[in-house]
Amino acid sequence: MEQQQRIEILQKLIQIDTTNGNEAAAAHYLASVFSDFGIASEQLHYSDERANLIVEVGSGAKTLGFSGHLDVVSAGNHEDWTYPPFSATHTEGKIYGRGATDMKAGLAAAVIAMIELNQDPTFTGKLKLLATVGEEIGLLGARQLTEQGYVQDLDAMIIGEPTQNTIVFAHKGVFSYRVESRGVSAHSSVPELGKNAIDKLIAFYINLQAELGKITAENSVLGAFVHNTSIIEGGTQINSVPDYAHLIGNVRTIPEFDNEQIEQLLRDVIVKMNDHDPDSDLRLVVTQSSYPMFSQPDAELVKIAQSVGKAIIGQEIPCIGISGGTDACEFTRGNPQMPIIIFGPGNETPHMVDEYVEVANYLQMIDVYKAIAKQFFAV
Ligand SMILES: [Zn+2]
Repeated sequence: MEQQQRIEILQKLIQIDTTNGNEAAAAHYLASVFSDFGIASEQLHYSDERANLIVEVGSGAKTLGFSGHLDVVSAGNHEDWTYPPFSATHTEGKIYGRGATDMKAGLAAAVIAMIELNQDPTFTGKLKLLATVGEEIGLLGARQLTEQGYVQDLDAMIIGEPTQNTIVFAHKGVFSYRVESRGVSAHSSVPELGKNAIDKLIAFYINLQAELGKITAENSVLGAFVHNTSIIEGGTQINSVPDYAHLIGNVRTIPEFDNEQIEQLLRDVIVKMNDHDPDSDLRLVVTQSSYPMFSQPDAELVKIAQSVGKAIIGQEIPCIGISGGTDACEFTRGNPQMPIIIFGPGNETPHMVDEYVEVANYLQMIDVYKAIAKQFFAV
């Protein structure tokens, strides 16, 4: 493909405003790009105006997945931008716009790599693109695709989030919850007529701390399992027995002690307390559960990406773990053995005013993706 066409595809993708929605328009656009090159695609409807895009090219026993999200975060006040956020203005080697770095450049690079590999008679292998909705708010599309079995056939996956010339092969998961304690109000002069929700919540807190203290799990890259009690609220006035209190906790999980395990631990503590004390009415509400992602540092995909990246980009490409969550949190649940790397074009401007991507960086990543795919199927 001509460089100009590669650049135009990215510009058109940025020009489609997919702020926390409207991904169907972007999915439809990319489907038309594939179609121009004779490649069929599937759009998986999520809700009104929202659709994931799934594309397969090639054939073979092994499948390499590419993934990127179609949505972007709000551009905020458009007046604050040097160039309008959905103009995709190309100037001085940069393309400006909301989503330029996070992550329409990574997504467009994967799309073009797939199209070009499909045209290459020397290439054999099966590639599958999963373009998702709602990554920024709840990993919605990744969850839908995972639950509907779209990742089970993948042998490895590259997510094109901006990583600034590093390869992310591990990140912690996030688990947020609320424990609600219900009591019965009464005048504070006759507390025996009521049930004190704060007392029961504090008893829960103490029991929980004891159980958390027993967790010794640690990950060689990500470090320890971490729990933080973030908020405790309860009671309304000085002369009443409180009938409600709650506690909000935030947990950073690791594969060695993951989301399922912390949820079970919380439930066990609650069930035990409710069973042993008829005045205890505790309930667990899980408000967020994103799984940790961990690929072995010596996985084939990691090694290939590192050597290819170094050769093409011309510098060492360190492999790192981060704490942020991506669509990998969902994909890894559907295919726990699948190595996943996060490796894409972009810089430190995600979610910022004047977000941009260096055109050279974007174009280079197309070559990196193609070279990774070729080597992945050569071994
Ligand atoms: Zn992103």
